[in-house]
Amino acid sequence: MPTRSIRPLRAAVLTAIPILLAGVLLAVLYGLQVVNAQALQEESRNNVTRTETVSASRGDILDRYGRVLVTSEVSYDVSISRSALVTDEDPNGVLLELIALTEEAGLGHRDTLPVTWSAPFAYTEMSAGQRSRLADYTAHFELEEGIPAEELMAWFREHYAIPEGYDPEEARLAAGVRWELEMDTLFGGGYTFASGLSQSLIAAISERCYPGVSITTGSRRVYRTPYAAHLLGRVGPMNEEQWAKYSQLGYPMNALVGQDGAEGAFEEYLHGTEGERVTVRNAAGEILSSYYTREPQAGADVTLTLDLSAQQVTEEALAAEIAKINADRLKEAGPGEEVQLSQGGACVVMQVGTGDILASASYPSYDLASFQERYADLLADPARPMVNRALQGRYAPGSTFKVVTATAGLSEGVITPLTTIYDRGIIDEYEGYSYTCWAYPGSHGTINVMEALQMSCNYFFYITGRNVGIDAIDRYAAAYGLGQSTGIELYENTGILASRDYKEKNVGESWYVGDTLQAAIGQSYHLFTPLQLASYCATIAGGGDRYAAHLLFGVSGPGGFLYTPTVLSTVEADEETFDTLHQGMYMASRYGSASYVFNSYSIPVCSKTGTAQVSEDAVNNAVFIAFAPKEDPEIALAVVVESGANGYYLAEVARDIFDWYCSRDPEAAPIPENTILP
Ligand SMILES: [Zn+2]
Repeated sequence: MPTRSIRPLRAAVLTAIPILLAGVLLAVLYGLQVVNAQALQEESRNNVTRTETVSASRGDILDRYGRVLVTSEVSYDVSISRSALVTDEDPNGVLLELIALTEEAGLGHRDTLPVTWSAPFAYTEMSAGQRSRLADYTAHFELEEGIPAEELMAWFREHYAIPEGYDPEEARLAAGVRWELEMDTLFGGGYTFASGLSQSLIAAISERCYPGVSITTGSRRVYRTPYAAHLLGRVGPMNEEQWAKYSQLGYPMNALVGQDGAEGAFEEYLHGTEGERVTVRNAAGEILSSYYTREPQAGADVTLTLDLSAQQVTEEALAAEIAKINADRLKEAGPGEEVQLSQGGACVVMQVGTGDILASASYPSYDLASFQERYADLLADPARPMVNRALQGRYAPGSTFKVVTATAGLSEGVITPLTTIYDRGIIDEYEGYSYTCWAYPGSHGTINVMEALQMSCNYFFYITGRNVGIDAIDRYAAAYGLGQSTGIELYENTGILASRDYKEKNVGESWYVGDTLQAAIGQSYHLFTPLQLASYCATIAGGGDRYAAHLLFGVSGPGGFLYTPTVLSTVEADEETFDTLHQGMYMASRYGSASYVFNSYSIPVCSKTGTAQVSEDAVNNAVFIAFAPKEDPEIALAVVVESGANGYYLAEVARDIFDWYCSRDPEAAPIPENTILP
C-alpha cells in the first residue's frame, strides 16, 4: 500500500521541524542574550511591565422562556497610565482638561479622595475603605497620622507640583486624580478615570493625544425590561463586607458585584473568573506587548422562574388598582377634607407544586436604567420605592388567616366539614373586651366551615380557634410557612407569627384566651410578607406540601444545573380537609366578597379576602389571596395594598392576572433543559 512507504518520511519531517525550530530559537536567544545584552538591559530598564486583572464578562439574566432581562454591553472607558502621564510637562493641566471634557459630556470622573471639593478643605464622611486607604497613603509618605485636610492639600500641591496659579478648586480636582493614580501604583486596585464614553467624547479625547491617556473597553449592565427592578437588582462597587468576602475569591478591588436582587443572590454564577494580563510599555507609554497569563472565564447565564409577561401584567394591575383606589378616595372626599391615600402595595404570583415565582411586584417601583441618576430622589421619596414590599413588607393577614384556623379545626377533629355553629355575633364573656363578628348586631346564622369562609364570619373562627387552641393554630400556620423563611434566595423579612412565646418575649405578658380569639381571625401580632402569603396560598392549593419559594430556574455553562423544587414543610391534613378549604374559598369567590369579579368568571377561582386594621385612625390595609383553577390548581397569588381599605377591591388585580393565565399559550414550555445545560 502506498501509505506505507510515505509514513517513515513524514515521521522524519515531523521530528525534524521542531529540532530545526529549536535551533533557530537558540540562535536568536544567543543573539539576544549575548550580543544585545547591554543595549537590551538599557532599554528594558525604561520599560514598564504591568500585571493587570481583566474582568470576565458577566452572565445574562433571563426569564423562564429565555427572554433577556439583563445583559452587558461594551463600555468605553478612559484609563490613565501614571508613568506616561508624568512625562508630560504639565500633567496636572492634562487632568484638568480631561476633567472638563468629561464634565461637558455630562459624564463625570472617578474621585474617591475623602476631601471636600473647595476650601477650606475638610475630610468628608469616610467609608471604612476610604479610611484605610488614607491611612496607607499617609503611612507610605510618612505624613503625620490624622493630618488635617488643609495640610494634606498643601502637601499634594507640593508633591504633585500643582502650579501656584491653580485656585483651590482646581488644585483639589487635579490632586484627586493624582491621588487615585498614585494609590493604584502603590497599592493596586485598578483605577478607571471615567466609564461609558460616547462616540463624540472618545473622538474628543483621542484627537488630543494626551500622554498616558487611553480609551479602553469595559462592560456595563444593560436592562432590557423596565419591570422587575426589585428582583433583578444592581451591580456596583464593593463595600467593606463584600470586599472581605470577594477578595478571598480573587476579585480585584475595583470589581463590580451584585448588590441586591438576582444580581446579588446569583453573583457566584454570573461573575465568572477574572483573568490576568501583562502589558509591557516603553517610556513613551506605547504598548510593546500584551498577553494573558490567565484568560478570563465568562460568567454563566442565570435563568429565573419569572415569566416576563406575568410580571408586566402584575405590576400594571397593581399600579392601576392603587391609582383607582386613590382616585376614588379623592373623589369621595368632601372639600378641604384630609384624605389618606395608599402609599404602596405588593403582589406575588407563584406556581403551585414547584414554588416557582412567576411574578413579584412591589409598588411603587423604579427603572433600573435610570436608577443612578434618580438615586437621591428615590431615597428621599416617602413612599420608599426602593423597598421590595413583596419580600420585606410585613402586613397583618386579616381574614386570609381564617384558612389556617379552619385547617387546624378540621385536622385536629374540633370540627368536621359539616359541623355548624350558630353565629351569636358577639363574645362578651371575657372581662374588659368583647369580640364581635363584623355582621354584629346582625348574624350569619347557623353555618358550617365552608359558609364561614365564604362569609368570612368572625364568630365561627373565634369559637373554632378557642377550641383548637393557639399552639395547634401556630403549628399549622408554621407548616404553611407563615412567620417562617420562604426559601427565597433574596433578602426577605420572616414576619411575626403570634404565639405565647412571642408575646412573653416581646410584650412581657402571658397569653390569654382573648389573644387566641384575635389570632384565630388574623389579628393579634401576626405580620407576614406578601411572599409568605403567596406561598401559604400555593400550599393550600397544592394540598399541603410547602415548596421553597425560589427565583432560580437554572444556570447555564460548565457546571450548569436546573433547580430542583424542594418541599420545606407539609401541612398535616388529609385530602378531605383540603377539599373543604377549597370549596369554602371557591364559595367566597362565587358568592362572597369577591363575587363581583369572580361569580361568572371563565375558570373557577378560590379566594379569601382580608382587611387589617393598622391603627385607630388609619385606613385599613387590604389583603387578598387566590388560586386557580379549583381542580388541579396551577397558580396562586397574594396581593396587599397599604390603606387599600378592603380586600375585595384587590380581586380586580387577581382577575387581570388570571386573565393573563387563561390567555397564555399553555403549550409554551419553559426554556428547555438542553439550552441551559452545557
Ligand atoms: Zn358572623
